[in-house]
Amino acid sequence: MEKKDKIYEGKAKILYTTSDPDLLIQYFKDDATAFNAKKKGTIDEKGIMNNSISSKIFEYLGSNGIPTHLVKVLSEREMLVKRVTIVPVEVIIRNRAAGSLCRNYGAQEGKTLARPIFELCYKNDAFNDPLMNDDHVVALGLATEKELARIKELTHKINDLMKKFFLALNIELIDFKLEFGRYKGEIILADEISPDTCRLWEVGTGVRLDKDRFRNDLGNIKEGYQEVLKRVTGK
Ligand code: UDP
Repeated sequence: MEKKDKIYEGKAKILYTTSDPDLLIQYFKDDATAFNAKKKGTIDEKGIMNNSISSKIFEYLGSNGIPTHLVKVLSEREMLVKRVTIVPVEVIIRNRAAGSLCRNYGAQEGKTLARPIFELCYKNDAFNDPLMNDDHVVALGLATEKELARIKELTHKINDLMKKFFLALNIELIDFKLEFGRYKGEIILADEISPDTCRLWEVGTGVRLDKDRFRNDLGNIKEGYQEVLKRVTGK
């Protein structure tokens, strides 16, 4: 598939058009940012690892009835994806307390939540991705009520599937972020699922295997991603 024009460059990925108007190439970079890009760096080969991890997870979700944008892996750093219109809402689901839940609500890190928290944030760096509720999303016209209901339904299913997937690899899924898009009238899962977008703790030891190693200067950053890659791909 021929790579044509660069249409978007984000913090971790670049999107290119292709000869097919319905398809894009998603290219994974090594750049890493945290705290709304106040902290910047690169993690050697992160793009290669995240392309591989994300495609494995999307394939698993796809084979379990979740519609996703993944068409196929093209190369080390590239996947072919369906061209969606992104719903400008970051969907976060939490199973245990970490990150902003602890900072904003005083929950103790690691606290098991009585039930998963479904959270919505406005995907807008200029406003610092503020937390929003269902009414904000619908009233501001970011998604319809029906689309939001579908997003919620898919997110809970994805959480159940991913918890099971990671537990089989001796990893606990603490929380993660999803992005959805519209494709031919349907809501589908887009973006990526990787250690950049999930908190992943090793069962038993609590060792962090995700971007918190970069955020919080825990060292062995690349090794965390490598460990997830090894377990996810079985290589
Ligand atoms: N997350 C993400 N992108 C964002 C914000 C959050 O992928 O722009 C992920 C993050 O990696 C974590 C989850 O969403 O797995 C919850 O993040 P939290 O709100 O705790 O944010 P943080 O502590 O990073 O500010």
